[in-house]
Amino acid sequence: MQMQLLKERILKDGLVEDGDILKVDSFLNHQIDIRLLEEIGKEFRHQFEGKEITKILTIEASGIAIACIAARHFNVPVVFAKKSKTLNISGEVYKTSVESFTHKSTNTIIVSKKFLLPEDKILIIDDFLANGKAVIGLSRLVEEAGATLVGAGVVIEKGFQPGGERIRSMGIDLHSLAIIDSMNPENGVIFRKE
Ligand code: 5GP
Repeated sequence: MQMQLLKERILKDGLVEDGDILKVDSFLNHQIDIRLLEEIGKEFRHQFEGKEITKILTIEASGIAIACIAARHFNVPVVFAKKSKTLNISGEVYKTSVESFTHKSTNTIIVSKKFLLPEDKILIIDDFLANGKAVIGLSRLVEEAGATLVGAGVVIEKGFQPGGERIRSMGIDLHSLAIIDSMNPENGVIFRKE
């Protein structure tokens, strides 16, 4: 189920940039509309109704606010993977590398072994889904920890990029609150029909 309120906000305030980037800086990625985030959190809770979740996992920076508000609805803690600048990291962390869609660079992301435990049931949350690198990288950390991946929730999926198909074909229960079928600076955003 896509979220009408979010789609209306994207149409009103989202800016399509060249290079297939949607800017949502006025309500999600820079200035944050907490009321909208509250509804987003509620919707994620609804989509994963009945599933046991012990922790929400996201990636810094833009996933953190979304994950935190969602976590209030699940009543669980948030763990965010940090982008590490240190090359030589001790054995106290799970780590993997993730190619950044927006910066075209590769980051090592880390999570302390203290915060991902084999008994954890993890929901991954992120703001955007493009090629799927961030969500798949996070799922590798979950796997490394021996924890269970319950599913992944993203706010905006760019359905014309391959991430959604990749993640669904891996058997991950993925829910996206708005799925964009196509977009360009001239005509704006077209959502996928449900
Ligand atoms: P992926 O890893 O799926 O290729 O890309 C997802 C990550 O890249 C997200 O964490 C998000 O921060 C960033 N991203 C991808 N596409 C967009 C976009 O169109 N707009 C913005 N603001 N961020 C994006």
